[in-house]
Amino acid sequence: MKYLIFTALAVLTISCNSAQSMIDRTMSRIDYANTITAEELSTHLYIFADDKMQGRMTGEPGQKMAAEYLKNYYISEGINAPKDGEYYQIIPAEYFSRMSEAKPSENVVAFIRGSEKPEEIIVLSAHYDHIGMDEDVIYNGADDDGSGTVSLLEIAEAFQMAVNNGNGPKRSILFLHVTGEEIGLYGSQYYTENPIFPLEDTVCNLNTDMIGRIDPDKADNPNYIYLIGSDKLSQVLHDVSESVAKEYSDLELDYKFNDDNDPNRFYYRSDHYNFAKNNIPIIFYFNGVHEDYHRPTDTPDKIEYELMAKRARLIFQTAWEIANREERITADKL
Ligand SMILES: [Zn+2]
Repeated sequence: MKYLIFTALAVLTISCNSAQSMIDRTMSRIDYANTITAEELSTHLYIFADDKMQGRMTGEPGQKMAAEYLKNYYISEGINAPKDGEYYQIIPAEYFSRMSEAKPSENVVAFIRGSEKPEEIIVLSAHYDHIGMDEDVIYNGADDDGSGTVSLLEIAEAFQMAVNNGNGPKRSILFLHVTGEEIGLYGSQYYTENPIFPLEDTVCNLNTDMIGRIDPDKADNPNYIYLIGSDKLSQVLHDVSESVAKEYSDLELDYKFNDDNDPNRFYYRSDHYNFAKNNIPIIFYFNGVHEDYHRPTDTPDKIEYELMAKRARLIFQTAWEIANREERITADKL
């Protein structure tokens, strides 16, 4: 008996040691980016956009379940909440002023503290709410914005692996999963009115809203991502974004919707706008609209997972560059 206990302890000690020796200082930013895989994105999205989530309508049980999924993921990855172990930023019902019978809702937040300039914050955002149900019909919102949501999870995991290897980002990264987007960009507005970290310390916002599909106009050339807003407030941000894409990605950056005269006005239509109106440089990553946009047919089986992984890796690399470069990004066009 004693001998057996000793053996068990010995095995335990050995496995602890081997966990320590798994610290890998040879991993590069490319290796971390490559941990963002189509398989893992798909695994998350089939859960996150499942019928059980009931279309994730703000304030409803499906949205609460989705919030729980995000929170539990960060806990399981050892990624902290920004303050006091609070992964939820609660938004009171009264805030949703344009909704009848509004209920309280919550943004979900997780945080990786920078190693050298922790007070400077890069916000990576994606909305996790969607438009709910219409009687028995469920709007799964796999692309909108399940795609951005699960991409943030994978990007966070890649950064946390770098942290575990002693190679974490110099600046801090806030993973901001906002609620209430579909009913009026409420979650991001609430965050910018009640920021967890001062807005003047917020370096930029990279917002991801729909990156899993292909615009029918791009059917012949699907290796692309639309970028909106990158040059509106900051030339440096735009230039950094371009050079990162050139070095680490083969995606075409398409600026079609960045035109001030574009009638779609996408620049004003997702959560980054609440940062931009506070003069914080932003980039909006977007695949464009398609036939399943805001329809019950926006389901996880229609997602292009390899393409989505490429797009998520581009966002990771851009965030890595902004977090680690010598000079802070500023709104140099103001
Ligand atoms: Zn959306």
